[in-house]
Amino acid sequence: MTAKLIDGKAFAKKLRDQVAQTVARLKREHRLVPGLAVVLVGEDPASQVYVRNKHNQTLEAGMNSWEHRLPPSAAEEDLLRLIKQLNEDEAVHGILVQLPLPKHMDASKVINALDPSKDVDGFHVINAGRLSSGQKTLVPCTPAGCILLAKDTLGCLEGMNAVVIGRSNIVGKPVAQLLLGENCTVTIAHSKTRDLPDVSRRGDLVIAAVGRAEMVKGDWIKPGACVIDVGINRVERGGKAVLVGDCDFQSCAQVAGAITPVPGGVGPMTIACLLRNTVEAAILQRGLEGAVG
Ligand code: NAP
Repeated sequence: MTAKLIDGKAFAKKLRDQVAQTVARLKREHRLVPGLAVVLVGEDPASQVYVRNKHNQTLEAGMNSWEHRLPPSAAEEDLLRLIKQLNEDEAVHGILVQLPLPKHMDASKVINALDPSKDVDGFHVINAGRLSSGQKTLVPCTPAGCILLAKDTLGCLEGMNAVVIGRSNIVGKPVAQLLLGENCTVTIAHSKTRDLPDVSRRGDLVIAAVGRAEMVKGDWIKPGACVIDVGINRVERGGKAVLVGDCDFQSCAQVAGAITPVPGGVGPMTIACLLRNTVEAAILQRGLEGAVG
């Protein structure tokens, strides 16, 4: 392996420590305890793990954390009623509705029912619009984590060719907007892109958010490029379930200048950025100055 390993776990720990320091200052100086409410509908095992991790890390940062669980059969109106209550609750500064929702619910309608100032996932159409107009807003957590890791590795991103593989509303599109904000020249590739390996090879920075195990190979990468792998795919290896990314780590690490591992790369950044968003939402809702860090 020649690529430098980008340690998302260590970076996320530093970010959570900064969040905890800001929380302590807000308590001391303003008697403000930022609070995050997470709503889980149904019993999806992966979602349950994510929600538990969010709860634990929110408490560890000194913040308030509430979990609201609804059964898989809950009506959309029940969820909308709960969101209305949380929107009106002054102790709640951030609300996260764990996705995916059961099929009988309209995820866009549910997300757009959130108070945009409490939408710490940054998925509300108002926050997505602000991001694409270059306005300050609550930024989706995984894309924010990708940019923090890329900047920590490469320094200033200005003028770089960035290739984003994937165009979902959750990762691909917002990460592309953030890269534009960093003055990169951005290409967004997707399932209909022609000659994807060639497109990918133009990237000084490649961000893969595809959901296909080990799709991006070493010969898709420009020598020395930085590779940020968002993918989390469960595959079987030697009779065991293991997690792999959207990039074939072995071959990409031979060519790239730096690469995120899976797990331990982008994954841990997502919750750290969620905590940071919750603190920033609390600061804004109180009309205070300052940000995390
Ligand atoms: P998604 O909504 O399924 O979007 C996947 C995107 O990849 C789509 O835009 C799709 O193109 C594109 N794509 C699919 N097959 C392709 C192919 N063969 N060639 C080129 N593009 C292709 O997925 P997502 O929610 O963005 O998530 C992507 C991955 O990131 C998943 O593995 C997910 O588990 C992971 N993830 C990780 C975190 C984290 O915290 N680390 C957070 C979120 C997601 P079309 O638009 O043309 O269909």
